[in-house]
Amino acid sequence: MTYDTAIPAATALLTSDRAPAHEAFNGRMYIDGAWTESADQQRFERRSPAHGHVVSSFPEATPADVERAIQAADLALRHGPWSKLKGAERARILLAVADGIKARVDRMSLLESLETGKPLAQARGEVAGCIDLWQYAASLARTTSGDAYDTLGEDMLGIVLRQPIGVVGLITPWNFPLWILSQKLPFALAAGCTCVVKPSELTSSTTVMLMEILEQAGVPAGVVNVVTGKGPSVGQPLAQHDAIDMLSFTGSTRVGSLLGGLASQKLKKVALELGGKNPQIVFPDCDWDAMIDAVVFGVYFNAGECCNSGSRVLVHESIAERFAQAVVERARRVPVGDPLHPECKIGAIVSENQLVEILGNIDKGVAAGARLRLGGKRYEANGLYLEPTVISGVAPDMSIAREEIFGPVLAIIPFSDTQNAIDIANDTAYGLSAAVWSNDINTCLTVARGVDAGTVWVNTFLDGYPELPFGGFKSSGVGRELGKQAVEDYTETKTIQLHIGERKNWWLPRQAA
Ligand code: NAD
Repeated sequence: MTYDTAIPAATALLTSDRAPAHEAFNGRMYIDGAWTESADQQRFERRSPAHGHVVSSFPEATPADVERAIQAADLALRHGPWSKLKGAERARILLAVADGIKARVDRMSLLESLETGKPLAQARGEVAGCIDLWQYAASLARTTSGDAYDTLGEDMLGIVLRQPIGVVGLITPWNFPLWILSQKLPFALAAGCTCVVKPSELTSSTTVMLMEILEQAGVPAGVVNVVTGKGPSVGQPLAQHDAIDMLSFTGSTRVGSLLGGLASQKLKKVALELGGKNPQIVFPDCDWDAMIDAVVFGVYFNAGECCNSGSRVLVHESIAERFAQAVVERARRVPVGDPLHPECKIGAIVSENQLVEILGNIDKGVAAGARLRLGGKRYEANGLYLEPTVISGVAPDMSIAREEIFGPVLAIIPFSDTQNAIDIANDTAYGLSAAVWSNDINTCLTVARGVDAGTVWVNTFLDGYPELPFGGFKSSGVGRELGKQAVEDYTETKTIQLHIGERKNWWLPRQAA
């Protein structure tokens, strides 16, 4: 790839003299209320992508371990007390879990930062944010219920029960390990389900630590089980096993469609939260400073390793060049480097593979004729660091405009008018989220209505609340998490019809003469 000599230098890498002093976390699996190694005693390690040292290690589950975990969840569902507890009692335990997370924010966020490479301050915010998810799920444990129909005539009463759907398999990715688990697990538990959890092999620590908290909070044995290891061997059985009733998966569209297909063949309920190529759409009449800040935040938050990353910006052609210059000027000053440095905003990329893939995508964009305006290179350093990258002059048909890159790479695409912006926004396989920037309410509402996205932000980006449903259109997923329906998604309805009084016969035999 040839580099534009006019490209301004990216910010110098932040280094830290603070050695990440901590002992490697020695994780174990949690099956049927017991801490366990794998059946063949094999373990795997996770190294910090920023520092290179071993952060944690975990058992590599065998098929027999996964089977044991599923059987434990199945037994706990059928014979355990969890699904029969009062909603108020389940809520009390979920609130105790929230308190347990609160007491461990420091320890959990350090491990989350070291395993993912994300800034420690950001990890703290995420871990602390999980407390609210568990508290919200607790409120739904008390308020989610069935329904009664007293409108069916004098002789009939209909009752619709909401029962736990059963055993749920939960598979989570590496980019927001505890957060994404907390979008699923407390809601499944609030419904009375039992679960088998498989965290990403890159970031299993906080999932395992959460089991200590669940145990102390009083979640009975077998209700939540954790198996650690690789996707195909450990995750796939959760999509296929006969005893699993529902699969809830967050991760790539590639793996999600594979697992969704396998689970659907077995007629399981499937919930999928997948990738995104989320457009921020910028009109000339917007609040310029707020927009520039949100664009830089939107694409570089979590080093762009975010399903909601604002990885493409659609800018009105009249301001496209001014926009590109302003965004480059802001982006080149964002602090990149050691995730433990207090000023760090962009940490390390999660793995060498991921870093190489991101660089390959940048190369493809430049080869297709787009213009590299900032970054595009890895830092000369020991950790896995990539310069914040800005690419302008991107055409909607280039792969860099259409494919999820999952790195700190912004693609700038010009548009001519509102309809053209909506058409470009919708011209990808994805539909997770979008944003519109304008001070004209008509423009904002027209775009918000027109784009294919599960979430549309107006003059803001990446805010989220447990009360608001989250999920994607098209290849970004199936179903929604959060919101007041979050617990209902983990239930089956059962209709009971009660006849009142004497029932009229369908037919009476004639009396014999
Ligand atoms: P991934 O699909 O590679 O892995 C996700 C999980 O699936 C991991 O636990 C992994 O071990 C497991 N897995 C991988 N291959 C498997 C297989 N063959 N069978 C069973 N399990 C398998 O995704 P990732 O790289 O961990 O995460 C990044 C992706 O997640 C991105 O595409 C991102 O957009 C997506 N994501 C989506 C959301 C959302 O809410 N929509 C949130 C976060 C991340």
